[in-house]
Amino acid sequence: MTSSNARAEADFMRLAIEQSAQALEAGNMPFGAALVRDGALLLLAQNNQVTERDPMGHAEVVLLRNACTNGGPGFARGATVYASGEPCAMCTGAMFWAGVQRVVFAATQADIIAALGGPALPIRTAEVLAGAEPGLVVEGGVQRAAAVAVLERFARRARGAS
Ligand SMILES: [Zn+2]
Repeated sequence: MTSSNARAEADFMRLAIEQSAQALEAGNMPFGAALVRDGALLLLAQNNQVTERDPMGHAEVVLLRNACTNGGPGFARGATVYASGEPCAMCTGAMFWAGVQRVVFAATQADIIAALGGPALPIRTAEVLAGAEPGLVVEGGVQRAAAVAVLERFARRARGAS
């Protein structure tokens, strides 16, 4: 990977984490995601579970729904998803079915559970994809501290502190 690619990758994750902070400010769960193909940013999304009253409104699902609604069912094929938190089993399935090729996440599931408590569905993204054909590349822990800081801000607010 060239250094300009590495810089772009860091930027995409920064944008996903920014989305997580925006979700927090909007009153939703603090998660965000970015969709990238061939080094170009296609779309950003954030969790909307509370504001849309949608239990499936996880950032990755919102991202893929918007991508396919606007760009057609094959729009995410071959793309990379950058997620501020390790995708759950539902989101991992959605990425697989949308044809995503690679997923990069920041906070791990253990980080998320440590910061937010339950509910927990602790099936690691790589475990969900263990038998997937075609497989996806999974990379974790990228800019983890920045993502965890947003989760902890959410938890402090939920406890009534600021
Ligand atoms: Zn999810």
